[in-house]
Amino acid sequence: MSFQNPVFIPGPTNIPESLRKACDMPTIDHRSPLFGQILHPAREGVRKVLKSDVAEVFIFPSTGTGGWETALTNTLSPGDKVLAARNGMFSHRWIDMCQRHGLDVQIVETPWGEGLPAARYEEILRADTGHRVKAVLATHNETATGVKSDIAAVRRALEAAGHPALLFVDGVSSIASMDFRFDEWGVDIAVTGSQKGFMLPPGLAIVGFSKKAMDATATAALPRTFFDVRDMEKAYANNAYPYTPAVGLLNGLNESCRMLLDEGLENVFARHRRIANGVRAAVDAWGMTLCAASPDVYSDTVSAIRTPDGFNATDIVTHAAQTYGVAFGVGLGEVAGKVFRIGHLGSLTDVMALSGIATAEMVMADLGLPVRLGSGVAAAQEFYRSNPALSRKDAA
Ligand SMILES: *Cc1c(COP(=O)(O)O)cnc(C)c1O
Repeated sequence: MSFQNPVFIPGPTNIPESLRKACDMPTIDHRSPLFGQILHPAREGVRKVLKSDVAEVFIFPSTGTGGWETALTNTLSPGDKVLAARNGMFSHRWIDMCQRHGLDVQIVETPWGEGLPAARYEEILRADTGHRVKAVLATHNETATGVKSDIAAVRRALEAAGHPALLFVDGVSSIASMDFRFDEWGVDIAVTGSQKGFMLPPGLAIVGFSKKAMDATATAALPRTFFDVRDMEKAYANNAYPYTPAVGLLNGLNESCRMLLDEGLENVFARHRRIANGVRAAVDAWGMTLCAASPDVYSDTVSAIRTPDGFNATDIVTHAAQTYGVAFGVGLGEVAGKVFRIGHLGSLTDVMALSGIATAEMVMADLGLPVRLGSGVAAAQEFYRSNPALSRKDAA
């Protein structure tokens, strides 16, 4: 690997210099008003990024996976029924976590490459007249397959069925990069981490709870200690944590939110969309296809690219690292060896994306795939030329 090249894995993402500096702090008393001046603006910044006026934001020293556990253990009890679709490695892991916590998961098996089946959710919820389902899980962006799902449609399914289940959304690889509307979509718990859209080192689980989710913490009987949001809420009122907070990362998060809000959330989303469109133009020019089944589910943060039958897609990732010092993502689970992934989220420009596309071409040519050097780069260049980043009035 080279420290000078950007990474093209779908998290952790490239860290801007200003955020590296923000994380690099002298020790302060983490039970002092000074700490409060970092903690509270960071929570407020996250709330804005979630597009929420109501979310209670909690930030744990952990990762996205700890955010999943925070959602489950604070609101559910052993044996509770949970509805979840499995359409990739991340939804699979969240289901596995539910099962290991003794929850009864009704799994909707969904082809890898497709989005969440909202219509099927609605059927199941309508049939659940006794309201045994306590929570519906939704992975907004399946990082394994490069598939986004329609969370508003999941909310509509709950409403159409008149069902009171909580809606938990994994937004680890979408929040701060793709449009996410906590309030409008009626999300009860949103989960993310520091190392994807927030462009920070790994180390924080970031969650937002609705009022309804907070109410559920009073009766939830799953064991919880480290991730207990009631302890966290009490400590926050005293500018503190129930234990030692990751002060530098929180300072970074505060700065990251400032950067995102300064750029403007809609501009951030448009930038991700534009960069993703360039990558997709390149994939098209290579004569290859995405794992994502149709354009309406294409992710703007990661593309999983199918390689020809009989070819081991993981070789692309290995060769890119060994020969060019560039990181791409491997295929996971069901699509291991069948896809490689280009992560295009976080601190990225068109120019950086072009370097990743050019590298992927060199790698594929080295490995004997029928990819003409320059073909994908040219397609992306054409796209970026006709949609230049700096023509937007506020991009200068
Ligand atoms: C990265 C990711 C996770 C896991 O997050 P960790 O920070 O690695 O624990 C969960 N869900 C999705 C969709 C992700 O992309």
